[in-house]
Amino acid sequence: MKHKNKVVFVTGAAQGMGLAVAKKFVSEGASVVAVDINLEAVETATAALGENVLALACDISDSLSVRSVMDKIEERYGRLDVVVNNAGVGSVDAFLDTPDEHWQRVIGVNLTGTFFCCREGGRLMHKNGGGAIINISSTAAVSGEGPSHYCAAKAGVMGLTRSIARELAPSGVRVNTIVPGPTNTPMMADIPDEWTNQMIAGIPLGRMGEPDEIASVASFLASDESSFITGQNIAANGGMAFL
Ligand code: NAP
Repeated sequence: MKHKNKVVFVTGAAQGMGLAVAKKFVSEGASVVAVDINLEAVETATAALGENVLALACDISDSLSVRSVMDKIEERYGRLDVVVNNAGVGSVDAFLDTPDEHWQRVIGVNLTGTFFCCREGGRLMHKNGGGAIINISSTAAVSGEGPSHYCAAKAGVMGLTRSIARELAPSGVRVNTIVPGPTNTPMMADIPDEWTNQMIAGIPLGRMGEPDEIASVASFLASDESSFITGQNIAANGGMAFL
């Protein structure tokens, strides 16, 4: 019960890593506010997790939507201990043909959305006198193996983490980035088998990661076991890249 009585906010919690993170924190005693752009999906996915989960709709790329959820958290729990900025989107675009709206959406969700949740969640944690923020980037941010908007957004998340880790440290808030490699989630299910096999061939451990393995890193980064770690990139990628 590593996170007993903590209040944890997780984005993109209807499936994949976000759902695994929600499950992990509930199993460790936390109250989890599980948000997703699709309310029905997040309600259905988390229904079996019991009364310690509050499923809410939130579009993280809209600051008013994020603010409204944070207001509900403050009203209901009076505090916030952990933010896991997991929600993300991709789009397959060749750089020279990238439409403005695809660039804006991918940056808007992956980077600006993460910023909104860090800022609004950080304000609540500042009032508490401490907490942990965990942002999710991607190995693509360092390898460049991905579309330009996605790589730029995920590299931006690393810079955002470092800056706010310094600024929020005096408030007792630690901020870190998990950098996953290819992980077995619905996001990956859309990719043709041929590409997936090619990816796996480049992973020394010989397989994709599982969402639970990312959730374990999030739990560690939110716990006192990582009390001297802030501003860092923590890679979970089977050895495919060294940060
Ligand atoms: P996923 O299966 O696509 O799940 C992401 C969830 O976020 C979906 O439920 C999605 O809803 C939701 N979402 C999308 N836009 C949102 C918004 N504006 N506000 C709130 N929720 C939103 O993704 P995943 O594979 O679990 O990935 C989780 C994170 O890890 C992402 O940041 C991703 O970029 C990163 N990552 C993934 C991998 C991988 O191999 N899977 C590798 C490295 C990094 P919809 O489905 O309705 O859009």
